[in-house]
Amino acid sequence: MYPGLGLYIHIPFCKVKCSYCDFYSVTNNENHSCYISALEKQAAFLGKTNEISTVFIGGGNPGCLTLSSLEKVFNLIHSYDLSGIKEFSMEINPESVTKEKIELCRDYGVTRISMGVQSFNERTLKTLGRNTGKKAILNALEIVKGFNNIDLNLDLIFNVPGQSLNDFKKDVDRVVKINPDSISCYSLILSRGTELTNKVEAGEISLPDENLFVEMYYYLHQAMKQNSYNFYEISNFAKKGKTCLHNENYWQLGEYIGIGASASGYLNGYRYTNFSDIDKYIELTTQNIEPYEKEKITPENQLIEYLMLGLRTTNGITTDKLRDLNSLCEQNRFHNILNEINKLVDNDYLTKSGKNICCTIMGMTVLDEILLRLV
Ligand code: SF4
Repeated sequence: MYPGLGLYIHIPFCKVKCSYCDFYSVTNNENHSCYISALEKQAAFLGKTNEISTVFIGGGNPGCLTLSSLEKVFNLIHSYDLSGIKEFSMEINPESVTKEKIELCRDYGVTRISMGVQSFNERTLKTLGRNTGKKAILNALEIVKGFNNIDLNLDLIFNVPGQSLNDFKKDVDRVVKINPDSISCYSLILSRGTELTNKVEAGEISLPDENLFVEMYYYLHQAMKQNSYNFYEISNFAKKGKTCLHNENYWQLGEYIGIGASASGYLNGYRYTNFSDIDKYIELTTQNIEPYEKEKITPENQLIEYLMLGLRTTNGITTDKLRDLNSLCEQNRFHNILNEINKLVDNDYLTKSGKNICCTIMGMTVLDEILLRLV
């Protein structure tokens, strides 16, 4: 069962644009107070009557905000009913970490800091266009580790051009030594129009080959298992009781409020997506106009999302829920999907245990292809 209603706040500010990044973020905007006022407007507009279970402040780099701006965002969050809150996460990049900022986070109830480390290798960091080096990362980690009551999640990226298996092993081994509560390790995705993608398309650099990608992913699993990190989602591992509840809510099709440019929300069967344009977002919220596009999530959409999100996780999907969702759809696809699932089970890409179906590790390495066959 998912934890309840999530609240996501998007802070789209970064000091520099990383070469691989296609998140909505800007580097040339210092007008944080107008943006925060717009966040407050949208929050008021959507209403604050329901109890929030999880909060996630993401970006961008929320650590870019000054202490006083950050405090305003925290005050906005505290204007919701947080009486039943189970988790309060904030992303922060290493170069933005100061003791004062983490103290402020702690004082306002942040329970989990997610730090975008990505790599400890200077060459890999450079390829990714990160605005930080190994020394700054280690300093930031020392500061955050000093706060015993805040859980730490570290993000790594693998499958980076120029990254060898040995480079990646060193990153994983170092992260394990730091002993965070949870680890997110993402395979680099080449998104259209990013600086890195342009370089790959121009033949200036190339991604590691598929075999190397698979070797990296298997090494990651082996290291996580040996160090008591439980695998719970294609890119996520956590010590016992330290999974990210906010994300689990998304993967289980739970409801959430999204505030901020480019953020999405899912409420009462509708998904809305705020415009990915700070100026437009501010202008519309100031005029009390909805700053988003909204779509009804049809049973067909729900079925597809259930497959796409469920198979990312080790909880997987169940035939019961598939049948229930399918029964609401206009077209009956249950038997076709089940046939495909059985073929994938025969080929060791999926496992079936009673009514439960999930991906094997090999299946996780080709999840996109699996989903293409199912949806
Ligand atoms: S810090 Fe994060 S959001 Fe900002 S440019 Fe880099 S990857 Fe994108």
